[in-house]
Amino acid sequence: MCGIVAYVGKKNAQSLLLEGLKRLEYRGYDSSGICIGDKHGLHVRRAVGRISILEASLEASGQHLPPGHIGMAHTRWATHGAPTEINAHPHVDDHNTIALVHNGIIENYATLKQLLIEKGHKFASQTDTEVLAVLIAHFYKGHEDDGLAKAVQAALHEARGTYGIAVMSAHDPETLVVARRGSPLIIGVGNGEYVVASDAAAIVEHTTQVVYLNDNEMAVIKPASFKTMTIDDVPVTPEIKEVEFKLEQMELGKYDHFMLKEIFEQPISIENCLRGRIDLHEGRVVLGGLANYARDLVRARRIIITGCGTAWHAGLVGEYLMEDLAKIPTEVEYASEFRYRNPIVEDGTIVIAISQSGETADTLAALREAKDRGALSLGIINTVGSTIARETDAGVYLHVGPEIGVASTKAFSGQLVVESLLALFIARRKYMSQNVLNEFLTALTKVPEKLKTVLEQSEHIKTIAAQYVDRENWLFLGRGYNYPVALEGALKLKEISYIHAEGLPAAEMKHGPIALISAGMPVVFIAPKGSQYEKILGNIQEVKARGGKIIAVASEGDEHIHTVADHVIHVPEIIEPLQPLLTVVPLQLLAYHAAVARGCNVDKPRNLAKSVTVE
Ligand code: GLU
Repeated sequence: MCGIVAYVGKKNAQSLLLEGLKRLEYRGYDSSGICIGDKHGLHVRRAVGRISILEASLEASGQHLPPGHIGMAHTRWATHGAPTEINAHPHVDDHNTIALVHNGIIENYATLKQLLIEKGHKFASQTDTEVLAVLIAHFYKGHEDDGLAKAVQAALHEARGTYGIAVMSAHDPETLVVARRGSPLIIGVGNGEYVVASDAAAIVEHTTQVVYLNDNEMAVIKPASFKTMTIDDVPVTPEIKEVEFKLEQMELGKYDHFMLKEIFEQPISIENCLRGRIDLHEGRVVLGGLANYARDLVRARRIIITGCGTAWHAGLVGEYLMEDLAKIPTEVEYASEFRYRNPIVEDGTIVIAISQSGETADTLAALREAKDRGALSLGIINTVGSTIARETDAGVYLHVGPEIGVASTKAFSGQLVVESLLALFIARRKYMSQNVLNEFLTALTKVPEKLKTVLEQSEHIKTIAAQYVDRENWLFLGRGYNYPVALEGALKLKEISYIHAEGLPAAEMKHGPIALISAGMPVVFIAPKGSQYEKILGNIQEVKARGGKIIAVASEGDEHIHTVADHVIHVPEIIEPLQPLLTVVPLQLLAYHAAVARGCNVDKPRNLAKSVTVE
C-alpha cells in the first residue's frame, strides 16, 4: 500500500529518497516523511499531503536536513489514525533512539501498546506503527554486536500482522535494518550503494540488480556490506536477480494522466501480452510457465479464481471463459471472503490468483489458504518477481508494463487476454477442434488493431461524458460476457469521478434496481451483437420507457441501436468470448473524461492507493 524507500551509500540521501518517493507516490499519498542519519544521530521531517509538500517544507528555512548518506522515507496510506503529521512515518520512540517506517498492519498493536505504557513508555500517535518503534527501542541494548538487528528480531517476535519495515538507530546511524512479512521489500544492490524499496520503480534508476526479501526475512545493510537472515537469525544467502524495467514506462510522455496513457497503450500492451504465446503456424497456444502442468489443467475438476476489485471482475470473465471453452466448473471468489469461510478444496481443484501487483494482501492470503488445502495454484500477475508470482506453483505474467494509474486499465485487458489463452490452452487439449482454436487465435491477434478504432472515439466519448457529469447516479448493464464489463465500467466511474454507479446483469435490473430509474438518469448498456443482443434490446426499452438516458456500446454497423439509444459508441465485431477486450475500453474512457470534467485527480483518486498490501 504505502511506499518505502531507503538508501545506504555515498550519495546525498535526501534527494535520492525524495525522487524514489515520487516514483512510489501512486502507492499512497496522504502524508510522507523522511529520516536522514549522520554522525549526530537521526533527523526526521514529516508532512501531510503529497511528496511535493514534504519537499517544499524541507526547503523552508529552519527545516533543512543535514547532508547524510543513509536514510529512509515513506509515503503513507493510513490504516490506523488520521492522515496527520503526528501519524506520518517515520515514527520514533519516546527517547528518540529508534526511527522506523512501516507498510502493513500490526494487528496486536493495542495489546502491545498497553504493555509498553505499563512499563512507562509514552506514545504520540494513533498508529499501529509507533508501537513497533517503541518496542524495538525497548529491546535495544546498544549498537555493539548487531544490537539493532537483535532488537528488531525481538520486537518482531512479539508482533502479529504484516509488515515491510526499515529501521535506524540514533546510536548506530551507519546501519539500516529492513524486514518483511506480507508486505513487499526489494533490496537494490548497486556499486557501493544499496537502495531498498517496496517497488522496483524506485530502484531501477540506480541499479537493476536486486534481492527480493521473502516473508520472515530481514537484512542488515551497512555502507560497505549487507547480510540477510531470517527474523529467527538463521543466515540466508541472498540471491541477486536482474530486474527488467524501462524507465520511460514510468513517464507521462504526451499524456495528461497515466490513466489515459495506459488506456491508449492497450493496443501495444495486448500485443506484448500475446507475444510468443500464439503460434498461428502450428495453431497452438504457447504458455511456457504452464508446460509442466498441462496434465493437471486438463484433468482439473474445478477452478476457483480469486482476486479483488478489477482483478475480481477479470475473474468473472474468466469464469465464463473456463466454463464455456475449457468446460471446467469455475467459481470466482472475493479473495477477502474466500479465506475466512472455511472453503472446500477437493482433489483436482486449481486456484488462480489474479493481481496486477502480485502483492495484494487479500489475494495472497487466499492463495496461501488454498495451497494449504491442497490446491494447485496459478498466478495471473503483472509484476515480475512479486510475492504472489513467487508463491504460486506456476503462472502467466501479463507483460503489459508497469501500471501507474491507480484505476486499473491495461492490466485488466491483459488479464482477459491471459485468461483467454489459458482457457484455449486447456480447451484444445479437451474438446475444442483445431478449426475453432484457429479462429480464436486469429481473432486474438486482431484485437490490437480493432482497439485502435475504439480509441479513435475518445473525443466522441468525451462529449457524451460532458452531458452527464452532474448526474450523481449511473447504471451499467450487460449480459453474458459483458456483465462483468458492466461491473468494471461502474467501478471505474466510482473510483475516479466519485459518481455513484452500479453495474448489474441487465436482466437483474427488473428485480429491484429499476426502481432507481428516473428521468434523465444515465444508463450505460453494453450491447454488442451476439447471443444476448435481442434480450438486451428489450432491457433498453424498459429503461427508456422510464425516462432513462441510454448510452450504448454497440457493434460497428448496428444501425438499429441508434433508434433506441441516445448515444452510441461503436466497437468492431469480434467473437463473443473476446468482446470484453473491446467493450471495456469505451467505459474506461467514459470514466476518465467524466472524472477530468469534474476536476478530479484521475491518477490519485481520494482514499485509494494502488497495490493494496493490507488486509
Ligand atoms: N498501518 C500503518 C499506518 O496506518 C502503515 C500504513 C501503510 O502501509 O501506509 O500508519
